[in-house]
Amino acid sequence: MTFSKRAQRLTGSSIREILKITERPDIISFAGGLPSPASFPVGPLKDTVMRVLADAPEAALQYGPTEGIAPLRQWVSNRFASRGVALDPDRVLITSGSQQGLDLIGKCLIDSNSKVLVETPSYLGALQAFSLYHPRFCAMPSDHVGIDVDALTPELLNDARLLYCLPNFQNPTGRCLPLPRRQALVAKAKDAGVAVVEDDPYGELSYRGETLPSLLSYDPDNGIYLGSFSKVLAPGLRLGYIVAPPWLYQKLVQTKQAADLHSPSLNQYLAYELVRDGFLEVHIPRIRQLYRDQCQLMLSALERHFPATASWTRPQGGMFIWVTLPEAIDTQALLASAIDRGVAFVPGAPFFTENAPTNTLRLSFVTVSAERIEAGIRLLGELIQAELAR
Ligand code: PMP
Repeated sequence: MTFSKRAQRLTGSSIREILKITERPDIISFAGGLPSPASFPVGPLKDTVMRVLADAPEAALQYGPTEGIAPLRQWVSNRFASRGVALDPDRVLITSGSQQGLDLIGKCLIDSNSKVLVETPSYLGALQAFSLYHPRFCAMPSDHVGIDVDALTPELLNDARLLYCLPNFQNPTGRCLPLPRRQALVAKAKDAGVAVVEDDPYGELSYRGETLPSLLSYDPDNGIYLGSFSKVLAPGLRLGYIVAPPWLYQKLVQTKQAADLHSPSLNQYLAYELVRDGFLEVHIPRIRQLYRDQCQLMLSALERHFPATASWTRPQGGMFIWVTLPEAIDTQALLASAIDRGVAFVPGAPFFTENAPTNTLRLSFVTVSAERIEAGIRLLGELIQAELAR
């Protein structure tokens, strides 16, 4: 048997391996990137399932258009309009999660050795999705708020197929790109003819309720935007969307058609029926509050238990805190002893495409109870202090 070269290059995700261990109930896991089940709209969804199956069973259970069902695409377009971005619904493609969007974009835009610009660090799932198409990743210099736009030189931008960016409450760091950088980034990419791919599953989860303008809003005709229902409804629905410019849209549709014909009709009707009358306007503020409180608990536990020589981000939204430990500490080795003591996190190295530091880690705070946040951070702090004292 011979695998394709593509399959031969595949390796397991280190995060998935960690997650397998951390599914054990005795482990306090800050490793997963899962939304809180407390945020799932179980009751409203139950009613919606009954209503959709009573009112439109044929459409909901039948094959549907590859582009997605028209009312949901129109809803996405209206949502952008409410933020001042005029967008034809014909530019919206419903996908099976934004993860599928990343794969479709990779398939359509990346050849072997194509230059792909990524943040330092970046979302591991995107690096994996793009890696299947064998790009040449180039890391864009980034700091505590995101891409250092001044460092985007013509040489760096030259010949890049795409620039992948997470402007809001980034996975893994929680950082948020400031407004002037957004504008400058889009302008520079446009001048250089580089497609900007904006991945935005966390934009709605701003703790203060305000979200900065999307990159798309600075260049609506050319931007590529990935949205997701995973963090505002439920990831099990597997629904997201791509907003793509006309030159790319049909290619994405054809690629998706070959992959799965379309995303589940039933789930699209469920999502549409749930969100059509303003449900998210009530639901999202609850998620924001839950995550803000959880984040605050973890930040104060970090203050109490981590050494003064460690630093961490203070996110204003989303699900992650990024920690930088003294250089003497290797977080991969720390993880092994942490799991022995019953606590887990994700080491930072896999989120980098080059020059990965060994002393960073990602903490997710949304699924863990207050007591377990305190206990887990205390344990980790003790381990780090012990390591430093050796
Ligand atoms: N992009 C980012 C930055 C993410 O964190 C995730 C989920 N962890 C995804 C995309 C994929 O999300 P989904 O496929 O559930 O929409």
